[in-house]
Order: sequence, then structure tokens, then C-alpha cells
Amino acid sequence: MEDPLSRIDVRGVELSYGSNHVLKGVDFHVGQGEVVCVIGPSGSGKSTLLRLVNALLLPDRGHVLIDGELVGRTVKGDRLFEMSAKAINKQRTRTGMVFQQFELFPHMTVLENLCLAPVLHKKLSRGQARERATKLLRRVGLADKGDSYPGRLSGGQQQRVAIARALMMEPGVMLFDEPTSALDPELVGEVLAVIRELAAEGMTMIVVTHELRFAREVADRIVFMDGGVVVEEGAPADVLDNPRSERLKAFLSAV
Ligand code: ADP
Ligand code: MG
Repeated sequence: MEDPLSRIDVRGVELSYGSNHVLKGVDFHVGQGEVVCVIGPSGSGKSTLLRLVNALLLPDRGHVLIDGELVGRTVKGDRLFEMSAKAINKQRTRTGMVFQQFELFPHMTVLENLCLAPVLHKKLSRGQARERATKLLRRVGLADKGDSYPGRLSGGQQQRVAIARALMMEPGVMLFDEPTSALDPELVGEVLAVIRELAAEGMTMIVVTHELRFAREVADRIVFMDGGVVVEEGAPADVLDNPRSERLKAFLSAV
């Protein structure tokens, strides 16, 4: 089996949507097995950063590397070329992404949701996929929900299915984009528990979150973004208890 990828380097990344200069030179590193929580106000570019790491977008300037390998681009001679869609898709299967809105396929059962990508990418046979899916559902506490449709599940259950689905391809990196922001408060804990367990198992992760208590507990490092740049980063206690910039002080007193 291929070694799972695990290290992320974001170097001088800039990105605009049309005339909206959203990322203005982001430098960012996540070491193997490290959990980095990204905090920051709405519109600061957090989701855009995750999309770049997941090769859903390519930077206008700068580079994203996973385990030293350029994401979405290849070097030929002294020039960079966009990878083929096929190559990008292959890279993308090595990072698991979980979105705020779950994004499960509503017309498929939970098991079908989990088995789709690995079977499509010919990584697993149907039988192997079902076996792995069953194990993962057990791990997220949903052993009995394989034949249910997502619409019959609570938000917390749907998000745990989405996490299990992201784990099906055995990614080296997990990316979470505000995984609990769409949940009723009483369902947040069950999802954070699953993420906490992944962290304890040594999964390399970026978690964009507004749950500062959770970030303090699981993050090796917290990165505060504002206005398309990393304003401060460091150990949770340093960032949350001793903010240096006025921007972070203002953000922390508002949440
Ligand atoms: P955050 O996740 O921190 O809230 P985003 O990365 O989603 O920030 O967005 C940063 C900025 O980019 C915002 O101004 C947002 O309106 C804009 N933006 C995000 N996605 C798109 C898109 N697909 N097309 C155009 N503008 C976008
Ligand atoms: Mg966002």
C-alpha cells in the first residue's frame, strides 16, 4: 500500500476570486501527526485555504505541498503545469475533507455513500469496501445505520457518516471546515468526540472551527487568520490567552 501523505506546506499562497484578493500570502505548515486549528472571522479565507490544500482550487501565486509533493501542479523543465484532472483526482483522494453541510448523497444509503469513491477509483472491490465501511461506521458509533438514508439521520449522525466516508480512502490528512457549525448545540459533542479520537490516533489534521474550547484541547497549534493572512500562530495557550495583535484580541472578545 502507498504510504499515506501526512505533511502540509503552504508557501506564499495568494488567491483572488475575480478582483477579490482573498489570500494575500499565506505561509502555513502542518507536521506529521499534528493537529492545527484555524480560527478567524468569516471571510478571512479559511475555507479557501482548505480548498487549496484539497486541490479544489489552485493558487495564483505560491505553492501547496503535501509530503513535499506539489498539489495540483507538476514541474516540467523550469515551468509549472496544471496536472490532468485524473492526476488531481488521485491526489485529492489522499486528503479527506469534511464540510459544514455534510454533503452526503441524499439518494444513497449510508453504506452506498461510503463505498462510492473507493469502488469508483477502483481502490477496493465492492466486498472490501463494504467491509471497511462497516468497520468505520462502528468506529463513529453508527454500526446500525448502514442501510439508512441520510435524511433519516440527525445532523450529528450525518456528520459522523461524512467523517467515516472521508476515512474510506485512508487519507494521510483530514481537513475539517467548520464541521460543527451547522449542528444543533446538543449534537456538537458527538462529532467533536470523533475528531478528538482521530487526533489521538495521530492523524494529521487541519480543523477550521469556532469551538475555541475544543481547539484549546486538541490543537497542537492554533492559527489565527484575518484578511487573507496568518496574523498569529502558536500553542493554544499562547494564542488564546496571550493574543498579541489587536485583531486577535478583538476576535477573541467577540466569540
Ligand atoms: P472563510 O471560510 O474564512 O469565511 P472564505 O474562504 O469562504 O472565508 O471566503 C473568503 C472570501 O472569498 C470572502 O470574501 C468570500 O465572499 C469570497 N469567496 C469565497 N468563495 C468564493 C467563490 N467561490 N467565488 C467568489 N468569491 C468567493
Ligand atoms: Mg468558511
